[in-house]
Amino acid sequence: MSEFRHDPVQKRWVIVAVERGRRPSDFKIEKKDKGKAKFCPFCYGNEDKTPPEIFAIREAGTAPDSPGWQVRVIPNKFPALAIEGDIGRRGLGIFDLMNGVGAHEVIVETPEHELHMGDMEVDHLFQIVKIYRDRIADLYKDERLRYALIFKNHGEVAGASLEHPHTQLIATPITPRTIAAELDSAREHFLAKERCLFCDIMNQETALKERIVIDTEDFLVLAPFASRFPFETWILPRKHTHDYTLSSDELLYSFAETLKDILYRLKTALNDPPFNFVLHTSPSTIPRPGKSTYWSTLPYDYHWHIEIIPRLTKVAGFEWGTGFYINPTPPEIAAEYLRGVGQDTEVEE
Ligand SMILES: [Zn+2]
Ligand SMILES: [Zn+2]
Repeated sequence: MSEFRHDPVQKRWVIVAVERGRRPSDFKIEKKDKGKAKFCPFCYGNEDKTPPEIFAIREAGTAPDSPGWQVRVIPNKFPALAIEGDIGRRGLGIFDLMNGVGAHEVIVETPEHELHMGDMEVDHLFQIVKIYRDRIADLYKDERLRYALIFKNHGEVAGASLEHPHTQLIATPITPRTIAAELDSAREHFLAKERCLFCDIMNQETALKERIVIDTEDFLVLAPFASRFPFETWILPRKHTHDYTLSSDELLYSFAETLKDILYRLKTALNDPPFNFVLHTSPSTIPRPGKSTYWSTLPYDYHWHIEIIPRLTKVAGFEWGTGFYINPTPPEIAAEYLRGVGQDTEVEE
């Protein structure tokens, strides 16, 4: 029989198929033939086909917007939001609207067109996760912006329109609903118990062990109790911190090791599935008029983390209609399987 599991963070129900759960081999990932190489604006030599770079790590002596970079940050050529202008919050009868102000950047992770993040050198991944930190911190100086979302789409099914490894950053003048729901749950939990909801989850999961995938001194990787999707995993820092931008270089090095580890395991276990990951961190805490206390408990009650979602099942009418998810692989099975994936396991082609 299936179970309804309640997610205390999103306050959402998930239907988990506890018996006869689907295992990794039940998910067939169709691999497309590599056709003839298409033009790629993120490869060396095509730097003039993108907007001018915002930042790059590059070899000494190389000019901006030329080859010689290792990681390159550029504005999105087709941005969802524009950085210029006022928010222009206004009413239209019972409706509210504001201008599409925000930032939309692309972090081109490597010059290597086909390098999977799980196969990158830790030193290189460290540079990328430091750039996440520094770009969010920079955008939070703009008091129009409330939230900066870092996310990655890997594979066409996961929404990646370009194959070349890249992460996106979208900064918005409002905190997204999903994050706002988490902030509300976290604050309610804190006000009732004077403890962090995420620290509580980690403590319980560490004691139970059955949904833990990786446990290091600095980070915990777990399959959440009410996983929405097969092989959904979260990475949480062991030490309570609400804000990713406060992470030290030492912590981010450790984060790069853990991120590589779990992405490598997912790639190996599921034959390079499409996936998304999303960084959940603190919104900008620049006070707004009349909301001076709104964020006051944030350092105590919120806890940054990354959610990784392999795209093995489709979200369809039931999910859209109810807000529930149906998950055919219990997180206990997913965690057990991922724990068993060794670093030296060969990837099946
Ligand atoms: Zn490329
Ligand atoms: Zn915490």
